[in-house]
Amino acid sequence: MTEQPATARPDRRAELAAGLARVRVRIADACADAGRDRAEVTMIAVTKTYPAGDVVALAGLGVADVGENRDQEAAPKAAEVAAAGVRPRWHFIGQLQRNKARSVVRYADVVHSVDSVRLARALGTAAEAGRDRPLDALVQVSIDGDPARGGALPDSADPDRGLGPVAEALAGAGSLRLAGLMAVAPLGWEPERAFARLAEVAAGFRQTHPEATALSAGMSGDLEAAIRYGATHVRVGSALLGMRPTLR
Ligand SMILES: *Cc1c(COP(=O)(O)O)cnc(C)c1O
Repeated sequence: MTEQPATARPDRRAELAAGLARVRVRIADACADAGRDRAEVTMIAVTKTYPAGDVVALAGLGVADVGENRDQEAAPKAAEVAAAGVRPRWHFIGQLQRNKARSVVRYADVVHSVDSVRLARALGTAAEAGRDRPLDALVQVSIDGDPARGGALPDSADPDRGLGPVAEALAGAGSLRLAGLMAVAPLGWEPERAFARLAEVAAGFRQTHPEATALSAGMSGDLEAAIRYGATHVRVGSALLGMRPTLR
């Protein structure tokens, strides 16, 4: 049996095209409302739980950026997509364990979820050995400052979890490029309040790291608010691909 390259059925392709058209209008409207240039905002299609054929179909519709949150799923999917001759930019957006760093640096172009110095160092070492060009890395920041959840802590001197130390660890690794910040609005927070707080953190952060301009914020439910507060990358899953069967 010969292996079939990843493809999507024509009806699925039409569904994805319709979802993409709706999301593109939302992004364009949000940029217009915020007085921002549409070219400042990159849409990342979050394809977790969806097959490689969907990634290939989206690429055919002009989507160049794809996001995944679990290495176990992303690594084989990226290989399948590459085998189909398609090369999107892969964004790793999920919680990352240090023992997965070596795998992730092989296919990811950007890692959005670095939230500790220990993880930054593991990524730096892995990227040094496993890639021939620097890996873009964003510090995931905690908006509510709860150390029990993910995200580096702004206004904290914690040597492992403080935003400053994590950013320094990324900036100091030759195999990495500190690209900016990422955040998820905390459950129960109004998106407006969450992203206003994030914009404040980002403004302070850029005083020290003016070259790290990426701001990854906003998902299907809150991308308009994120764009209003300066997001340069929105991560859109369900609004584009449909509701996922399981919560991830
Ligand atoms: C799943 C996921 C998204 C996309 O969420 P939707 O609500 O489906 O758009 C964005 N960011 C992260 C970190 C995710 O895990």
